[in-house]
Amino acid sequence: MTGRQADRLAMLGGRRAVPKELRIAPWPRVTGEDEAAVMRALASGRFTAAAAGEREIPGLEREWAEFTGTRHAIAVSNGTAALSLALAALGVEPGDEVVVPALSFVATAAAPLHLLAVPVFADIDPVTYNMTAAAFEAVITPRTKAVVVVHLHGLPADLDEIGAIAARHGIAVVEDAAQAHGAEYRGRRVGSIGAINTFSLNVSKNLATCGEGGLITTDDDALATRTTMLRQFGELIEGRGSRSYVSHLLGWNNKPAALQAAFTRSQLERFGTEAKQRDANVRRLLARAAALPGFVAPSAPADRTHAWHILRFRVDPTAFGLAPELAGPLRAVVQRALRAEGVPAAPYQLMPLPAQPVFRDRSGFGGLPWSLHGTPEVPCGPEGFPAAYQVLDESFALQKAHLHPDAGPLLDRYADAFEKVWERRADLLGIAAALEHTPPWEEAGRIAAAEWDAAFAGGGETE
Ligand SMILES: *Cc1c(COP(=O)(O)O)cnc(C)c1O
Repeated sequence: MTGRQADRLAMLGGRRAVPKELRIAPWPRVTGEDEAAVMRALASGRFTAAAAGEREIPGLEREWAEFTGTRHAIAVSNGTAALSLALAALGVEPGDEVVVPALSFVATAAAPLHLLAVPVFADIDPVTYNMTAAAFEAVITPRTKAVVVVHLHGLPADLDEIGAIAARHGIAVVEDAAQAHGAEYRGRRVGSIGAINTFSLNVSKNLATCGEGGLITTDDDALATRTTMLRQFGELIEGRGSRSYVSHLLGWNNKPAALQAAFTRSQLERFGTEAKQRDANVRRLLARAAALPGFVAPSAPADRTHAWHILRFRVDPTAFGLAPELAGPLRAVVQRALRAEGVPAAPYQLMPLPAQPVFRDRSGFGGLPWSLHGTPEVPCGPEGFPAAYQVLDESFALQKAHLHPDAGPLLDRYADAFEKVWERRADLLGIAAALEHTPPWEEAGRIAAAEWDAAFAGGGETE
């Protein structure tokens, strides 16, 4: 291969900036200590939160409460269940409204719906990607019971501003910190600021288990007791003495598993060290990407830290010398060019939450909960949530590859790829300008329709 060819974009036949031999290290990282922890739990013969004398689950709860700086932590089966339990513990009831951001993982909005509460969406900030205080305030009604604040991608949201508005209206704040373990907001760890807060321990998250798991944190003794009851059939299971089998509350079975708790305790022991290494690796990549005028790299304001769960980059069409309305096509072409170089650039979420059919079509429970109080329909398109739509069209994300603490050398090659794509941008402009662009939410619609037809072929219901 000649030097000239090596310099060409991989998309146009040049050599990749990220050599194929550099592999993404699997996450979560599993060490001998993790294996020993799981074996210890296995040898104990006690596997669930209801087993008398089980020590791993209370151990994880104690350590997570200490880590976040809260009085109580309650381990549960996953992060989605954690949200449902937290809202139920707060007393969210049928017909109540729960404000959630327009951009998040679907669980954030599905949790209130499972309680027959109406998820009400608030638009995000196009730079931080988090719900804005103004958007939250604009959708408050007398029925608003809670607001779920998501620290999207690992950056804490504006908790003080949102908290002050919530306090004025008697609305409970729930932090959904599934993507932000360990991130700090004005000197406090996330999960210690809302009334009751949730984390996921899914294998994709910064603090993982070997499967599924979740954690709930609160300073409130009564909320903690209710949450514990809700995870186990509404029962008070003391773990010693006899069990009454009396369900005081409408609970679920969302108990955590001991093996998973043991694994996460072991991960937690080195969480701080690994987070520091990740921070250094990611910052090196971001500093180089931020020096390129065409990319807007993620960053953290001075009063908070970023957990770098997902790295979302926006393209700036004017810096590339393109008209602003070509941002979407430019993003699509840049994403393709980066992928060809070996950078796994991909979308995170294809559509804003309010456009998800489950919310948009108000399927819910036979029209409930929206029909309970005749909740007015709000437009779920770009006119209703301009920032969320804009962000989805103009940005792409890096996930997972950067989580392993040894990802530094790989991320350095990713930075090479960003620089190469920027230097070679002239080769992309014509492609972007001529591209027949499909925004991600339309792409999702197409995929979904095909998926649905394949799953329910012959079902007869078409639109
Ligand atoms: C992952 C995630 C959840 C759900 O957690 P699970 O453990 O996968 O159920 C909830 N909210 C957000 C923001 C998430 O990223």
